[in-house]
Parts: sequence; structure tokens; C-alpha cells
Amino acid sequence: MALGFAPRDGRSRRLVAVIECSLNQNARDAGAASYPAVNKAVLRLCLRYDVGIVQIPCPEMRFLGLARQRPPGKSIRDVLDTPAGCQCCLVISRDLANTLRDYQNNGCRLLAILGGNPQSPGCAVHLQCGTADPGRLAVESGVLMRILQEELHKQGVDVPFRGMRDCHPEWLNEDLRWLEALFRDA
Ligand code: SF4
Repeated sequence: MALGFAPRDGRSRRLVAVIECSLNQNARDAGAASYPAVNKAVLRLCLRYDVGIVQIPCPEMRFLGLARQRPPGKSIRDVLDTPAGCQCCLVISRDLANTLRDYQNNGCRLLAILGGNPQSPGCAVHLQCGTADPGRLAVESGVLMRILQEELHKQGVDVPFRGMRDCHPEWLNEDLRWLEALFRDA
């Protein structure tokens, strides 16, 4: 028998997409982990402001494995920024963009894409400041972030990108202040 009222749906309808290693530092390259497991400061903000988290798969692990196996003398960026590496990032990006558009089409608000440190071959976020399109990612950005932004744009999903730069405490504090202001205003 119907109860005559809808059960309460408690979701906030707000979410962010976060790179894999923010929530699992084990994904990082050797020597690059900033924490034992999780960036707790980012996680705490999401909990405090009731913002759900979609995890973005690590493109370096997907393409090169956890050990980042590659030919001698080649950097991770050298191998990720190739047609095969870009194709791997495109597959991740299309899948993610479809998921995020689905959330958006069903009444959820995607507040931000949270990327990584400035030197990350996959997930660095560098904006084209001082140009006509300041939200657009510059060429020094990570390969995945650049391709993901293009895919989201094609799908009509307009969202800010920001690196959570945990390699430097002052930079991270700046990024956390930005994130908290975003959550507060959302
Ligand atoms: S490629 Fe991105 S998700 Fe993977 S370890 Fe680097 S910053 Fe993290």
C-alpha cells in the first residue's frame, strides 16, 4: 500500500569532480605523495558544505600503470602528451563528461573540477589569465585537464577548474579559501 507521501530525499544536489590522488595518495608517482592517504582539508570542506565527490580516474596510472613504466630518458609528460596518451585521456574525459552532464541534466550542480599540482603532467591547472577567456586552460596544464575541459565544453558543461596545490602549504591554503568561498556562495 502506498504511504501517501514521498520519503524524504536528503541529497544536496551539489558536487565536485576531484582527481583520484586527492582521495587516494597511493595513486601518485613515487616520491610525490603529500599525505599518507587523503587530502583531508579538501575532504573536510566537502563534508562541511555537503558537497558530493566524483573521483576523476588517474590518467598516469591508466596509461602507464602505478609504476609509470616508460622508455628510459622519457618523462611522464613526454609519454602522456603523445597521440596514444591523449587518446587515453580522451576516453577518460568522454566517460566523465557524460556522467557529469547526466548529473547536471538531473538537477545537480557541478561546482568545480579540482585538479592537481602545477607540475602534474596529467592534472596541472594553469589558467589563461589576462586573455579574453580567462577560464580556459593554458598549454602548460595537464594533458587530462586540457582534454577534459574540451569535452565538457562540447557537452555544454561550463565549470571552473582549479588545482588543489598540496605541494606547497601557502598555495594549498589559497586554493582552500577559493574552494570554501565557492561552496559558501553555491
Ligand atoms: S595524474 Fe592526476 S590523478 Fe594521477 S597522480 Fe597525477 S595528479 Fe593525481
